[in-house]
Amino acid sequence: MENSIIKVLDLHKSYGDFEAVKGISFEVYEGEIFGLLGPNGAGKSTTLEIIETLRKKTSGSVTVNGLDLDVNPNEIKKIIGVQLQASGFYPGLNLTELINLFAGLYNEAVDPMELLEKVNLKDKAKAKFKELSGGQKQRFSIATTLINKPKIIFLDEPTTGLDPQARRNLWELIQDIRKQGTTIIITTHYMDEAEVLCDRVAIIDNGKIIAIDSPSKLIDDLVETGFERPVQVKKANLEDVFINLTGYTIRED
Ligand code: ADP
Repeated sequence: MENSIIKVLDLHKSYGDFEAVKGISFEVYEGEIFGLLGPNGAGKSTTLEIIETLRKKTSGSVTVNGLDLDVNPNEIKKIIGVQLQASGFYPGLNLTELINLFAGLYNEAVDPMELLEKVNLKDKAKAKFKELSGGQKQRFSIATTLINKPKIIFLDEPTTGLDPQARRNLWELIQDIRKQGTTIIITTHYMDEAEVLCDRVAIIDNGKIIAIDSPSKLIDDLVETGFERPVQVKKANLEDVFINLTGYTIRED
């Protein structure tokens, strides 16, 4: 029996007259990579930001690691890791200084080099955030979610805009973090990514969850209905060509 680390029950959120989240319920199990998928405007960010204690809900209940959001928001903050927007990284500070700054805010003792090593950025310890490539920026932003040694981290479209190599590299990083016992909630618009990474996904549309299960089960359910993908005439796609020609090594230095 899986252990639920997040429980969301009948969550509603209205912005004025507009109901963005219309009574959703789901659970996230400890140690899983859980994907929140859905078209733009579906209500993903609203839902995540409510769980992250950053936005107020209209009604419903949220429990994180046994802590009730209405009673213990500050305790919840201590056990979750949230990615900052790039604009939150002071442009004049290098990566070591930024980590020390955030560690100070969290009141945590952190060895910057150890943390940078985890995300393969030790060589960039003295570089400024703005000097990093897209993939490096994302890896650094993920590193900052780990500063307070959280039980759960939230990743909002972590691979958007990255090249195929950097995207794969980030998948490995996310899988490594999970192997160490951290629960991960991720949003993505890339279904191949969700299929590779996520143990389970919830698909949200118009503020409602319309499906929730493992990618494999959702695919099997669709096939059961008689759905067939148009026959593939080629055994590879353009991404295979790209990776085959340019290799898996990340190029950002
Ligand atoms: P997603 O992350 O799935 O793209 P959001 O949660 O950002 O969706 O948005 C859901 C809906 O709520 C959208 O229609 C969006 O325009 C609306 N919305 C989000 N934030 C606000 C806000 N602060 N004020 C008013 N409407 C908002």
